[in-house]
Amino acid sequence: MKMYVEGRWRERAQSIEVCNPYDGSIIDTVPRAGLTDVNAALRGAVRGAAAMAKTAGYDRYVMLRTAAQKMDQQQEDLARTISLEAGKTLAEARVEVSRAVQTIELSSEEAKRLGGEVLPLDGAPGAGSRLGLTLRVPCGVVVAITPFNFPLNLVCHKVGPALAAGNSVVLKPASDTPLIALRFVEILLESGIPPLAVACVTGSGGEIGKALCGDPRVRKVSFTGSRDVGGEICRTAGLKKVTMELGSNSPLVIMEDADLEKVAHATVASGYANAGQVCISAQRILVTNAVYEDYLQVLQPRVEEITVGDPLDESNRMGPMIRQRDAERVEQWVGEAVGSGARLLCGHQRNGAVYHPTILADVDPSARVSRDELFGPAVAVSRVSDIHEAVRLANDTNYGLSAAVFTQNIDHALLFAREVRSGNIHVNWGTVWRADLMPYGGLKESGMGKEGPKYAVEEMTELKTIIFH
Ligand code: NAP
Repeated sequence: MKMYVEGRWRERAQSIEVCNPYDGSIIDTVPRAGLTDVNAALRGAVRGAAAMAKTAGYDRYVMLRTAAQKMDQQQEDLARTISLEAGKTLAEARVEVSRAVQTIELSSEEAKRLGGEVLPLDGAPGAGSRLGLTLRVPCGVVVAITPFNFPLNLVCHKVGPALAAGNSVVLKPASDTPLIALRFVEILLESGIPPLAVACVTGSGGEIGKALCGDPRVRKVSFTGSRDVGGEICRTAGLKKVTMELGSNSPLVIMEDADLEKVAHATVASGYANAGQVCISAQRILVTNAVYEDYLQVLQPRVEEITVGDPLDESNRMGPMIRQRDAERVEQWVGEAVGSGARLLCGHQRNGAVYHPTILADVDPSARVSRDELFGPAVAVSRVSDIHEAVRLANDTNYGLSAAVFTQNIDHALLFAREVRSGNIHVNWGTVWRADLMPYGGLKESGMGKEGPKYAVEEMTELKTIIFH
């Protein structure tokens, strides 16, 4: 496919091959953009921002609503594109597309709600009869940089609110999954979004992503990806608004009064979805001594029955990881844990980028498989003696994106909710659950700022205070 820069679909002499992670076959190519393209994209986006600032909220609502309808009509085709380039099963890809439709619908609604407030200035000493109010205005040019693991919905979570708020947006999708992002841009343009309001540049994040984030024409950078790249972007961005949606090693705590069948179901849904490549994947499973072995017994057969292979084969429940080197990394970390005393219950075979669903028990919480972000289809189970130790271990990390507890004890649930430093807390379900309308984002090194169209619109706008004297 071509990339879309400064109102035109463009090719380049150099290209990037987009591969099917399951068999390595080349699906398509996209241009490898360079710094000239970054400059052109931003030049167009500055004009696009001026055009967007003049549009009415209602018109932006209609354009985005039309885009959501078109996406809805093309669900199967979009899902196939995701499955081919990201390696997720068709079933998972279909869920992603239907969520993306929701995200754009929600964004369209927000376009109608960009209000301010009247300030009660008469409450200030000596303010007299002055009238104060706030106006919410677009940031101008937004740069959106997205990861491979939800290559459509996470693009929608940035581009939808950016346009709803009246900005222009330059999108830099992950190099592994640019095709679905380009398809989405096609749909936006067919839906009436002004030609310069959106651009999609394809190329290396280290090169063009960095140039986009450092450019003074950009007012807002919205990034989803790894912690290290997020840190680098913050340093490059300087005095810009930034939203950072970064990684995690989410804890799932199981207390003695938990319903173990439900917990096992939630562990499978939270630990192995998308081959474990979800930012809120349940990675550290902390189980009280009283139910430790019972839990493992209930969990193991459910994990062993996950069928793995070609994501386009509807009988498979798990596809490959995005790259062979990521599967090798997971294999290595699991191997290290086993070498230092962890018990391997199942999985740990690898063919290319396919890594089989793995359970590790008796894991020392300081092992890499527990301490760092694994981002693969394995869970690390460790023992805890009580809720206090569970809370302490849940917090013993630099991350804080999602955390879950299974308990019937309201005091334990409340303690967990209050004490665990995490952007999302789940009681009696796993760490992987998200409604696209809710505020979503991490604490600590999992990031800053919130997504969910209502909240992202706040991040992508600025407040002006006006006083009539
Ligand atoms: P990544 O390696 O950090 O890449 C994310 C994006 O950043 C890609 O588009 C990449 O481009 C670009 N990039 C790389 N280096 C850059 C630089 N120096 N400056 C600007 N952009 C740069 O992450 P990933 O492997 O795609 O995704 C997995 C990570 O995302 C995990 O850590 C996961 O937890 C996190 N994640 C977080 C959330 C959340 O909501 N908190 C959601 C999903 C994923 P290239 O592809 O060209 O390198």
